[in-house]
Amino acid sequence: MQGKTVELPDDETCLHFRDPNDGQLPEGVLDNAGIHCILKNYFLSGGTGELPINETWPELWVQAEHETCALAIIRMTLEAQANAPDWTCPNCHERIEGQFQTCWNCGYTTDAT
Ligand SMILES: [Zn+2]
Repeated sequence: MQGKTVELPDDETCLHFRDPNDGQLPEGVLDNAGIHCILKNYFLSGGTGELPINETWPELWVQAEHETCALAIIRMTLEAQANAPDWTCPNCHERIEGQFQTCWNCGYTTDAT
């Protein structure tokens, strides 16, 4: 199971986090905060079934100097999503759990922040 070594500059670090929304990653949130990040393994999520699950979680690479800030932003974002109240889709009236911003039934997307 070797052969996945990734060469990176010393000043970049990898943040592992579990994405509770299975895909709605805070990449854009970091971009908005001026933190450049690189997302890896995103499309491996739920992939081959051969890799241990913790190797298929998304990896977010940021510059080491931004690690603390990035982690804080991610935590805040995920907590905000998890604590968001349920909402009713105005388009199809489906009940949607608060952490989701897109209606699973019709694809309606909220602009709530
Ligand atoms: Zn809907």
